[in-house]
Amino acid sequence: MTENVTAGATLSADAVVVGAGLAGLVAAHEIASAGRSVIVLDQEPPASLGGQAWWSFGGLFLVDSPEQRRMGVRDSVDLAWSDWTATAAFDREDDTWPKRWARAYVEFAAGEKRPWLRSLGVGFFPIVGWAERGGAGPEGPGNSVPRFHVTWGTGPGVLAPFVQRVEAHVASGRIRVLHRHRVDAVDLVAGTAVGVSGTILEPSEAARGQSSTRTPIGDFRVAASAVLLTTGGIGGSPDLVRRYWPERLGRAPRSMLSGVPAHVDGRGWGIAERAGARLIGTDRMWHYTEGITNWDPVWPGHGIRILPGPSSLWLDALGRRLPHPYSPGFDTLGTLGHILKTGYEHSWFVLTQKIIEKEFALSGSEQNPDLTGKDLRLLAKRLGAGAPGPVEAFKDHGEDFVVSRTLSGLLDGMKSLSPDAPLDRREVTRAIRDRDAQSMNPFSKDPQLAAITSARQYRGDRILRVAAPHRLLDAAAGPLIAVKLHVLSRKTLGGIETDLEGRVLSDDGTTVGGLYAAGEVAGFGGGGMHGYRALEGTFLGGCLFSGRTVGRSVAAAV
Ligand SMILES: Cc1cc2nc3c(=O)[nH]c(=O)nc-3n(C[C@H](O)[C@H](O)[C@H](O)COP(=O)(O)OP(=O)(O)OC[C@H]3O[C@@H](n4cnc5c(N)ncnc54)[C@H](O)[C@@H]3O)c2cc1C
Repeated sequence: MTENVTAGATLSADAVVVGAGLAGLVAAHEIASAGRSVIVLDQEPPASLGGQAWWSFGGLFLVDSPEQRRMGVRDSVDLAWSDWTATAAFDREDDTWPKRWARAYVEFAAGEKRPWLRSLGVGFFPIVGWAERGGAGPEGPGNSVPRFHVTWGTGPGVLAPFVQRVEAHVASGRIRVLHRHRVDAVDLVAGTAVGVSGTILEPSEAARGQSSTRTPIGDFRVAASAVLLTTGGIGGSPDLVRRYWPERLGRAPRSMLSGVPAHVDGRGWGIAERAGARLIGTDRMWHYTEGITNWDPVWPGHGIRILPGPSSLWLDALGRRLPHPYSPGFDTLGTLGHILKTGYEHSWFVLTQKIIEKEFALSGSEQNPDLTGKDLRLLAKRLGAGAPGPVEAFKDHGEDFVVSRTLSGLLDGMKSLSPDAPLDRREVTRAIRDRDAQSMNPFSKDPQLAAITSARQYRGDRILRVAAPHRLLDAAAGPLIAVKLHVLSRKTLGGIETDLEGRVLSDDGTTVGGLYAAGEVAGFGGGGMHGYRALEGTFLGGCLFSGRTVGRSVAAAV
């Protein structure tokens, strides 16, 4: 699909889309399907087509789906909207457009989203996951019910229909995709966008997700009636993440793993601002606390997020148990703030072999070869004994794992992995013994154990995600495992402010003529439809929805 272009040439099309991630591909498909010509530009080589979505787990937020109903889950647009607003906690004047986008998105997730994706050939794993469970009461943040639908084929399965359709448009000449074209500026005439200009980068053999070089070999200009920015978020730039880090989450981490490839460099924000766009909610972001160092990295600082079931004991760097609802899988940002306010950046899961086998999933298409490869034989192994292969590989090779048959061996290993933090052996021992003393009854005064019992009422959790309660020191459930967890940067919740058509707004509230934005660079719509927090599975969905909506509005405008 790639093309070489003579440096210095000016190209033209009805619309130019900057960024060939999910949002850009969905939008380009919509614009071309309406009969308009499109040039798609991306700074990365063809190997990285599709951006982050290819690496993603493919989890999609759907409301009142047949999959939920089959699992006995009762959901509705009203319940989802109530969860969304409690989680987003919109409280700013700037939240006008984000809130409108949020409402439109929840209605899409409860309406057209699934039939539309099914019509494009996208299927779903039948067991619906329960991400971001909340745990702070009915009026608090989080999903009241399971809504995380894993795409059959994970991230590549979400991307595939749009890659295929864009390829067909390339074949018919309606779309051109130019890789190694890095946009540096939106070209303006009298404040209206009339195209983009930038740098042609040298060809690169970098494999998917690897960093590619930035050596320039020329420049280019594309003239278009509409410019659509779909350049992704800032999660791959530790400097930008730290610059915008909100004080409410504690001090910005000095070290972070990166949950996204280096191309998620955040330059799109600066390019938009220089063209007159207004950025809002730049302090709203979504990073994880359950990051582990990838023993087989693809990009710099590559970390993998554990998608944990609820049973691991969560300890801070000193060995103190985290209070509920800061239990695994309940409240991402609440837990992040709690951990960073301890003065240390890491924390620990302490668990058993029995828990890891059932409860550890790793986020990312490459970490789930059964679901990604649609391999039923491999998938059946998830239900059998033993942890999935990629999880075992981390246990064997990962630098953050300690495995021991004895508690003292475990504590020695934990201490040697974090020599700078004075882990209190007695505190850890007491936390484990206190919990074990509560775990032998089906009822308990321990809120985490009560939540585990409640989770096992849900068939999906009982089958796939929540180990039967047991004592951590039960030798039959062993060996004991400790996992050192790091902050992992991932998603950007704020961004370029847009109206419901995706038209970029300026400081005085008027539109910047000809300029549009969609996907993560626009906070997935409006400049931040998630508000402060997310319900999960809403990022890919946000790209699908905003890419589709804004693609259609561009097509109507040019
Ligand atoms: C490991 C992982 C797991 C995930 N799992 C999930 C999940 O289960 N569910 C969910 O909802 N979300 C998930 N996400 C998040 C989701 O994948 C992303 O939020 C989404 O794919 C972002 O898409 P985008 O099109 O907005 O941006 P991107 O995918 O970042 O694409 C932007 C593109 O723009 C290009 N670009 C940037 N700047 C320029 C420039 N100046 N000139 C030219 N090109 C430029 C980049 O090279 C890139 O190709 C996951 C992400 C990762 C990394």
